[in-house]
Formats: sequence, C-alpha cells, structure tokens
Amino acid sequence: MLERAMIERVLGRIWAGTRIADDFSAICATGGRFSGTESERRAVEWLAVRLAEASGQAVQRETIPYRGWTRGLSCVRAGGREWPATALGRSPSTPEGGLTAKLLDLGRCTPAQIAAAGAAVRGAILLARHEYMLGTGHMHRRRKYEAAREAGAAGFLIACHEPGLLPVTGSAGDGMPGNLPCAGISAEAGAALAALSGQTITMVTNGVFEDRGADNLFATIAGQGTELVVLSAHIDGHDLAQSAIDNASGLACVIAIMEAIRDEVPGLARGVQAALFNIEEWALLGSAAHLAQLPEAERARRVLNVNLDSLAGAEGLTALTSGVPGMAAFLRAALAPAGLHLPVAEPFFGNSDHANFLRHGIPALRLAAGYDMPDSNLKYLLTPADTADKVTGQQLKYAAGVAALLVLAGCASAEPPVPRMDAETARRVTTPQA
Ligand SMILES: [Zn+2]
Repeated sequence: MLERAMIERVLGRIWAGTRIADDFSAICATGGRFSGTESERRAVEWLAVRLAEASGQAVQRETIPYRGWTRGLSCVRAGGREWPATALGRSPSTPEGGLTAKLLDLGRCTPAQIAAAGAAVRGAILLARHEYMLGTGHMHRRRKYEAAREAGAAGFLIACHEPGLLPVTGSAGDGMPGNLPCAGISAEAGAALAALSGQTITMVTNGVFEDRGADNLFATIAGQGTELVVLSAHIDGHDLAQSAIDNASGLACVIAIMEAIRDEVPGLARGVQAALFNIEEWALLGSAAHLAQLPEAERARRVLNVNLDSLAGAEGLTALTSGVPGMAAFLRAALAPAGLHLPVAEPFFGNSDHANFLRHGIPALRLAAGYDMPDSNLKYLLTPADTADKVTGQQLKYAAGVAALLVLAGCASAEPPVPRMDAETARRVTTPQA
C-alpha cells in the first residue's frame, strides 16, 4: 500500500508542473521521427539528455541493427487520374513504370473477405480500408496485408477512414523478398478507386532498403530489491507529420513521471526502468530485439511493463490489459487511493511494445486514450494530422498522473504486483481474436 503523503507529493509535482507541455512541444518539434531519418536522430539525442536530467540517472543506449528503408514517391494511376499515395513502411518498389493489374475492392478486406473472393484475388491489387485504431473489433492493417499476400495478390492499397485528403500510413511486410507493393491513400482516393473495381490500374511505390541501427534508451532508478517495473514508450513515428499523439504524448509522460518519482523509488521494494523503444512502428522491432537478447535472469527481474502509447487527444484513458490474469485487480487497487478508476479493454492489441513483454510472460498493459471513441482526435493516428494541436496539457497531466500511480504501486507491493505468466497463458493473451 502506498503511503498517502507519497501519492500527494507525486501527483502534486505532476499537476503543478509546467514542463510536460514544453517537453511534448519539443518532441513534436523534432518532426515525425521515422526511424532512420534526421528527425528521429534529433529526437533520440534530445530524449537522451532530457531523460538523464529528469531521472537523475545515466542513460544507456542500445543500438539495434535492422533493415532500414527510406520512403520514395508513390502514386496510383486509374481512370485517367493520378492520386498521391504513401508507401507503407518497408514496401518493395514496383517495377519501372509501376505495377499494372486489376483492382479488386474488398471493403474492409478482412482475411474472411479475401478468402471469400477466391481466385479473383490472385494477381490483383486489393483495395482495403483502414480502421479506427483503438476500439472493439478493430482489425489491424497487417492482418489484412498478410492475408492478401498469402492469397497471391499482386499489390495492396489501404484507404484512410477519415475524409480530408489525408493519406494513411503504417508498416506492412518484413522487408524480405516475397512482399507486396503496398501504399496508403486518402479516403477520397479510396472512394474514387472503389468505383473502378474490376478495372486495370497502375500503382507506383518507391523505397530504398539499407542496413542501419536504431537506438533504444534506458534510465533505471534502483529500488530496495533487484526487481524492476518497466515504464515504456516508443520514440519513433512516421514522417507524415509530428507523430504527436502517437507517441510524443507517451514520451512526455515518461519524462514527467520519472521526474516526479525519482526521489520516491529508492525507498520502495523495486526499482523503475524507463525504456524508450525505437523502430516500434516497424512491427515492434526495437523492444523485440531488446527482450530477446536480455539474459533470462534479467528478464526475470522485470515484473511489470506499463506501456504508454497515444495517451492524449481525447479525455480519459483505457487500460488495454489483454486479459492478463490479475491485471484488472492490480489496476483497481493501485488507483483507488486517489479515487481514480480506469476502464479496462481485454482484447489483445499486438500493435505496441507491451505485446513483446507479454510474449515473454511478463505482465504488461498499455494505456491509451480514445478507446472506442472514433470521433476523438485519435482518428488522426498515422495521418499527416497527428499534430501537437490535437493534444492538451491537461490530458498529458492526467495520463502522467495515472501512469505514475501504476508504476509506484508496482514498485511498492511486497510481492510482484501481477503474477508472472506461464507459456500457455502468455500464448493465450497474445492471440488476436477472430
Ligand atoms: Zn504508437
């Protein structure tokens, strides 16, 4: 049980502080932070300095080698018009002159719809729809893309769900041979193309592959024992805008929390590690490599992951627990002393770094704003409209306060706050629902 005075000190520091909004603006000012760009490098350097200052600890860098990719110009030519397009991360380039094939509009383009379309899929360019990222029944673009690839499609287009000529992005495929050219287009382009389903169109994607490294950053404040609570947020974004909600919001909150709890943690049962992961937007490569290369004894020290991804842009937060046994009870107990309560969503969302902790049996949750609020500013995720003006300072402070309480409760309990999962439980909680 947390000491009342500690809760008041920590929440007081967060609510009375003014730095969180400045930090958020500074992170947004680095740009979209697409891994491998100058913008991402600027952000890593800024974060390394600021995290050290906020936590009072040395910052460790861990360089993860990966197959990098630089986006080139893309477009779709159909019905005598040309539409701008944004190649999805790690899309192969189309041949000289583009990929010309029959267009097949499959609506949402779920694996079931792709299967129902049968032989017509083979050799076609499929038109899919992007979906609001945070809600019941959401199907991730990657599942649609992979079903399209397995069914023998030749190309993959995904239209934004939000009008306003906003292309949508994200990543798909793994950068290896056998992937499909894939690109995001605006809702308006999607509507125009849907009318041409069955006709021949041309899509052009361009990108250049190159081996690179990306830095994860860590700062650890030791507690009384050797165990750790990991407080994570991803650094990188997409180069369409500022990646403000996703995920400058999470980064600014990690810094504010470390600053608010730095003098409290040394007296608690376990310590806290701030983990800022890179290449998250590349199928979670940064956290996957980090956890895979940790010795088993190091993984065993990590008893809880609180992952902050897209924490503002709507009022309130939801805890995405993936149904981890004991997590909902932990949340209730951690927040009750401050009179707070979080709604819980149990479906597994494999699209942020907590998923990799779960795969190793480490209890993990993601906090996110806008769950099942499709009209909130979270609708702008992965579009050029994910900019700093979509977020308020109060939303950031609320999120930082809630997350700080979870971290403190995780550090303070005598026993690990949530039981570690065996392999079968870890597999069950990381299985997407149909
Ligand atoms: Zn994110």
